[in-house]
Amino acid sequence: PGRLPCPIREGAERHPDAQALTFAGSAWTYRTLDVEVGRWVKSLEDRGIRAGERVALLATNHVASVCLFWALGRLGAVLAPLNARLTRAELSPMVEDIEPRLTLALGALIDRLPSAERLESFITTSTASSPQCASLAEDTPRVILFTSGTTGRPKGAVITEGNFRASCKASASNLGEHPAPRWLGTLPLFHVGGLAMLTRTAYEAGCLILHERFDADAVNRAIDSEGVSHASLVATTLERVLDARGDRRVPPTFQLALIGGGPVPVPLLERARAAGLLALQTYGLTEACSQVTTERPTDADGRTAGPPLPGMSIRIVGEDGSARGPGEEGDIEVRGPTVMAGYWRRPDATRDVLRDGWLRTKDVGVLDTRGRLTVLSRRTDLIVRGGENLYPAEIEAVLLNHPAVQEAAVVGIPDARWGEVPVAFLALRAGQPTPTAEALDAWCRQSLAGFKCPARFSWVDALPRNAMGKLERTVLRQRASADVK
Ligand code: AMP
Ligand code: MG
Ligand code: MG
Repeated sequence: PGRLPCPIREGAERHPDAQALTFAGSAWTYRTLDVEVGRWVKSLEDRGIRAGERVALLATNHVASVCLFWALGRLGAVLAPLNARLTRAELSPMVEDIEPRLTLALGALIDRLPSAERLESFITTSTASSPQCASLAEDTPRVILFTSGTTGRPKGAVITEGNFRASCKASASNLGEHPAPRWLGTLPLFHVGGLAMLTRTAYEAGCLILHERFDADAVNRAIDSEGVSHASLVATTLERVLDARGDRRVPPTFQLALIGGGPVPVPLLERARAAGLLALQTYGLTEACSQVTTERPTDADGRTAGPPLPGMSIRIVGEDGSARGPGEEGDIEVRGPTVMAGYWRRPDATRDVLRDGWLRTKDVGVLDTRGRLTVLSRRTDLIVRGGENLYPAEIEAVLLNHPAVQEAAVVGIPDARWGEVPVAFLALRAGQPTPTAEALDAWCRQSLAGFKCPARFSWVDALPRNAMGKLERTVLRQRASADVK
C-alpha cells in the first residue's frame, strides 16, 4: 500500500480548468477549488489542528463542508460529520465520544452544540493559502461516521483513506467508463452516501453538483440543464423526481442512478427505465463505505441488488455460522478493501462485527446462482423511514420517560411514501389520565428529531411478551399493519 496525495491537488495539476464543484449558483474548477482548500488548510494549521486530531461538523450540504473534508485530508486529520437533524441531547454523547479539537456548525445549527464555531466564517477573504498536502497511507482514518446500534448508543465507524479509494475504484469499474461524471449530490454529506459521491467525483476528474438538500424540482432542473450524468437516490426520492417530471423523459446526458439505502421496489425501477433512466439497485452500508453490491449496467433488471463490486466478496451464513449455498437465506457478511477499520473507541463492538476480515452486516439475504444478492430484511428491528434508520429502543426510551407511560414499544409499519414509519404501542400507568396523541407527539419532539417521532400511538392493556418476558415485536407489527387496513 503506497501513500496517496489529495485528488483535488492532483486535479489542479492535471486538469486545472475542469469543473470540480457547483453549489448555490457558483462553480469551482479544480484550480479554484485547490486554492480554496489551501486556505482552509491554512486556517486549520493556524488553529493547531494536527494529524490524527478530530474536527466535528454539524451542517447541511455546503461548499465549506467540501473544503473542510479535503483540507483535513491534507493535514491527516479526521472529520466527524454529525447528522444535522439530531437534537442537542442526541448530539452531545457523540461529541463527547469524539473529543474534537474543533467543532464547526453551519448557521442556526450552532445552537445545538456547546462551543461550536461558525463553519461559514471559519476562513475569511484575507486568509492565505497553505501548500501543505500530506500523502496519506491507506490506513489513515479520514472520517468517523456515527451509526446507532439497537441499544441506541451511537458507534462511530472509522473510514480510512484506503476505504474511500477502494470504494471509488470499485464503483467506477462496475459502472464503466464515464469520463468526468457530473454527479448529483443531494444525499447529505453527513451520510456515507454523500461522502461517497464527493470522493467518487474527485477521483474521476468529475464534478459534484451539490444541493443543500433534496428538492424534486431543483433535481429536475439540474438533470435538464446542468448535464447531470449520475445520481444516488433512495426509493422515495427517485419516486418524487419521477412524479415531478410528469411525462418528460430524462435527457440522454443522464447515464444512470444508484438506488439503495433500503428496500427498492421493482416497479419503481421499471418506471424509471420507462422514463429513459437506467436505475440500478445497490446494497451498501456505512461500515463498508457505501456500495457493496450494485447491479451491472449491462445486466440489470432491478430484481436483485446485483453482485459484489469488483474486489468485494459476500457470503451468506446460517445461525450456526456455516456457509449457505445459492438460494439459502442467512446473514450477509462482507469482505474487501472498503470495510471499515472498526468502531471508534469501541473494541468490543468492533470484535462483534469484524471477524477474520469479514464484516457481519446484521442484514438477512440470499444469493442467487449468479452471485446476485437479494436483501430480505435486517436482523435487528431497525425501522427505515425514507432512508433514515430509526432505532426503536431510542424512541421507546423517550416515551417511557412520560409520566403516564408504563410500557412502550415502537415498531415499523409499511408506508407508501417513506417505506416504513414508526408506530408506538403504549400501556398506561395506573391512576394516570390518558394523554392525547398530540400531547405525546409534542413530548417526543422535545427530545427527538421530527423524523423519529411515531406516526401513530395506540393504547393497549399490556404489551405482548413471550414466556421469557421478551417483547414480541412480530405480534405488534401484525397488529399495527392490521389496524391500517
Ligand atoms: P446504514 O446503517 O445507514 O449504513 O444503512 C445500511 C443499511 O440499509 C443496510 O444494513 C441495510 O439494512 C439497508 N439497505 C441498504 N441497501 C439496501 C437494499 N438495496 N435493500 C434493502 N436494504 C438495504
Ligand atoms: Mg447500519
Ligand atoms: Mg440508511
